[in-house]
Amino acid sequence: MDTQTLARILDLNHVLARNRPLKEFFQAALAVACESTAAAAAIIWAADEGGRQIVAIEADPPLPASDGPFKMPLTNSAAGWAVQYEQPVQLDDIAKEQPSILENQPEFPLQAARLLAVPIRFRGQALGVIEAFNKEDNFTYEDIAVLEHLAVLLGSGIHDARQQVHIKRLQKEIKKLDDLKSNFIAIASHELRTPLGLILGHATFLREMIPEEFREQMDVVVRNAERLKKLIEGMAQVNNYQSGTSRVRAQTFSLRDLITTLISDYRQQAEKAQVTIEASLPDDPLTIHGDESKLATALSNLIQNGITFNKPGGSLHISATRIPGYTQIRVQDTGIGIPPEALPRIFDRFYQVESHLTRQHGGIGLGLSITKAMVELHGGRIWADSTPGQGSTFTVLLPLHTIPTPSENPFELT
Ligand code: ADP
Repeated sequence: MDTQTLARILDLNHVLARNRPLKEFFQAALAVACESTAAAAAIIWAADEGGRQIVAIEADPPLPASDGPFKMPLTNSAAGWAVQYEQPVQLDDIAKEQPSILENQPEFPLQAARLLAVPIRFRGQALGVIEAFNKEDNFTYEDIAVLEHLAVLLGSGIHDARQQVHIKRLQKEIKKLDDLKSNFIAIASHELRTPLGLILGHATFLREMIPEEFREQMDVVVRNAERLKKLIEGMAQVNNYQSGTSRVRAQTFSLRDLITTLISDYRQQAEKAQVTIEASLPDDPLTIHGDESKLATALSNLIQNGITFNKPGGSLHISATRIPGYTQIRVQDTGIGIPPEALPRIFDRFYQVESHLTRQHGGIGLGLSITKAMVELHGGRIWADSTPGQGSTFTVLLPLHTIPTPSENPFELT
């Protein structure tokens, strides 16, 4: 093989390595194939994954436009034989040697008189063929060598192309499954809400009416119905956020006061769990413009987790401060911590570090995804740092100026 051909094949390597669109790489390979073998035309075929046919994926000169890519079965074509038997197929006079093959039929997109087909393999599997046509003279050993070199590179290219198709297909399937899950959650939370509202309403009413001795049982009914209501509301909240139907009902309020109220709401629960709650809050009221109830939900989940995943004798430290452009809130616990491999997933819907089989705590893995949704609705960010066995820190950044004012509002205002 002459050095010029070798240099061109090496150049192709760079095209492949540069991660350019695969079409560009296939076209460059065909140009090398035609020029180096003096063929008048060349086609790259890819075998379909069922191994039943080959599909023309690129041609030089391009094939006439038709409805879809040109296809041939493996059985009656020289290109098909090259794939099936994993060997080059050379026909110097098609009309005489193999008049019945598909490359010699009127529907074949070019008038093939002479051809050379070399299989394209990748990791021992035949993925396609490169086929050159109509050289003035017979194809030579050198031509076979050129196409075989090209076939090695094309193997990676076709493998990449297949991977891309696979990835796209998987992405589509994941999206479909995710849509199904979202629809299920939307329907389930909607359908559960009405009967639950009735149960809760009537149970609350009955609790006041029944004799004292049954009060305790009725309290259990009401408490658990309320718990169920919270879970259902949580599911609906993340779903609304994901489908883009969440609304911020913005108002101006003091974040410092909100945090103080939340801490006092959770103090009793923390005492029960033998966890001390401490706060570092500034004199500044940390006035912000946002949805107080959504931010209360977001912070409650962090405080709740900071108590739940703590250890007896542990502490929970909550701080809030202004930093340039943002209000920063930190919820820091001395609890069990989160393993590094779980850290990137804890904000996913329904994710829990412990399997639900061994889990000692309640919850369905929605708290943090709700928190993240609520923070992001405000244009903010949240992340976690953690050392297993020592504790976790959740940091929330809320931008000072990105909540839209009423006049420019994509948000619903109250
Ligand atoms: P859940 O309501 O089921 O606890 P979350 O979305 O609030 O779900 O949290 C997801 C998971 O992240 C939890 O199940 C827990 O394993 C882990 N996690 C959350 N917060 C903490 C924390 N402060 N310390 C340790 N693990 C935590």
